[in-house]
Amino acid sequence: MLEFRIVEIFESLQGEGYNTGMPAIFIRLAGCNLNCCWCDTNFRQYTRFTLDQLLDKVKQYKSKNIIITGGEPTLVKDLSKLLLPLKQAGYFIAIESNGLGKVDALIDYIALSPKFCYQSRYQKIVQSIANEVKIVAENHPDFISFCQYIEQNIQAKRYYLSPCERNGEFNMHDTIILLGQINQNRIENKWLLNIQTHKFANIE
Ligand code: SF4
Repeated sequence: MLEFRIVEIFESLQGEGYNTGMPAIFIRLAGCNLNCCWCDTNFRQYTRFTLDQLLDKVKQYKSKNIIITGGEPTLVKDLSKLLLPLKQAGYFIAIESNGLGKVDALIDYIALSPKFCYQSRYQKIVQSIANEVKIVAENHPDFISFCQYIEQNIQAKRYYLSPCERNGEFNMHDTIILLGQINQNRIENKWLLNIQTHKFANIE
């Protein structure tokens, strides 16, 4: 029987990126192919849901937007079998991915977060189009060239740097300096600041 490993499913507001403030149902899938040192998601603890159980749960919420997240949702083998009935029911579906896997064609909005600390894994780009790209800022001599590489190889409408949070502290100073460096010699800022507002607003 088809089952999905679900860390959590809940309705809230998108806390970051272009769609900040958008009501959405978050479906957090288990499993990831990275192990970022600042990861704030416990993607190893999950409950198994059948497809019908998951669809019933989604119907309990009001929002017509769904955010598929993780962990790394592109690793889920039968994801399209979940996406298809959701699309048929009229949901707009966004995905949050680290960019190492190909995103299913049924997805309406793609947010990619390539990870500088695993830069060698991005030598081969498999998902070259996105709606937005968000990179967690790290004060490292190679960081700007990684962002430039991503900008050249992933075509996105918007590019963001996000401050890195470790134990409640954000590297805001470094992030703004890095934004200045990556936007240097441009007439308009190509890279924008992304704040995880839900962490400040105490929204799940
Ligand atoms: S890719 Fe995302 S979910 Fe996976 S370890 Fe890194 S921050 Fe956590």
